[in-house]
Amino acid sequence: MKIVDFVNGRSLLLGVTGNPLEHSISPQLHNTLTSILNNNCIYVPLRIDEEDFDEAIKGLCALGFTGFNVTIPYKNKILKHLDVISKEAELIGAVNTVKIKDNKLYGFNTDVSGFSDAFKEESGGDFFNKKVVILGAGGAARAVGLAVAAGGASRIYIVNRTFEKTGAIKKIIKDYDSGVDVICRDSINFNISKTDIVINTTSAGMYPDVENMPFEGTLEFDRNMTVYDLIYNPSNTKLLKQAAKSGAKTVNGLGMLIYQGIRAYEIWMDIKIEDDISREMLLSFKKYL
Ligand code: NAP
Repeated sequence: MKIVDFVNGRSLLLGVTGNPLEHSISPQLHNTLTSILNNNCIYVPLRIDEEDFDEAIKGLCALGFTGFNVTIPYKNKILKHLDVISKEAELIGAVNTVKIKDNKLYGFNTDVSGFSDAFKEESGGDFFNKKVVILGAGGAARAVGLAVAAGGASRIYIVNRTFEKTGAIKKIIKDYDSGVDVICRDSINFNISKTDIVINTTSAGMYPDVENMPFEGTLEFDRNMTVYDLIYNPSNTKLLKQAAKSGAKTVNGLGMLIYQGIRAYEIWMDIKIEDDISREMLLSFKKYL
């Protein structure tokens, strides 16, 4: 009989709160990191019903959890429990990572650094002095907008079919970096091929609606462009296929998913994970999924 020895009475406790969680790869991601780094902790799914959420968060503190991720539908609901919130998470209005220390809850949003690091790693480029188009104005667009502004973009176009939502993203970006030029649109009524980077943060094209794409039929790309789609299922969206036909560099959202998780793990464990390990994680999960 093989004795299970990866968890014991001294193991640190981590997990992900949300509902549903069946699709989440966070347990595999974080427990793989723990195994690579030879740490003593365990990461578990914590599915919580809406009416139990507040009690459950108190429970995680009482049980001595080191930290936890927060996913749909609780990224906003967690805010009132926090003692301290990072500037980025406060601007975005959503927290995906909580660290518990001395009975205090610290909230972060690692989608910003996760996106930025994944973009640099996989595209080989950056946002400095670039004209960047962000398609969509939902929760993910907020994190992407901050990452692009922080990276020194010269101009950001926010394009969303529901125009009223673009103003909130513009305000968040301006509050973070007043220097960047931000233009809001409700359609692609400008020459997108004259920009450098297009980032799809809409859910159009996500499984099972794989024949969908944002702003159907209107996008013209150029081979000098990079097109990043936050969707990772399917790994090659209709948008990315169209961009690749024009010779543009294309990247899907799996890297963001992996890197935001790695950044969360660094916060909980107070460590810096080597770039080589992050790359190895991304490659392994590309094969695994
Ligand atoms: P959200 O807050 O619900 O926002 C959805 C956005 O998509 C809105 O801007 C919405 O436009 C737009 N949209 C939906 N269907 C559309 C269509 N058919 N044509 C044009 N626009 C459409 O969702 P979210 O949290 O921002 O997530 C958006 C996507 O990013 C999802 O696919 C999610 O899986 C992905 N994501 C990936 C990662 C990662 O780590 N890779 C992280 C976060 C999110 P309206 O405002 O007009 O409705």
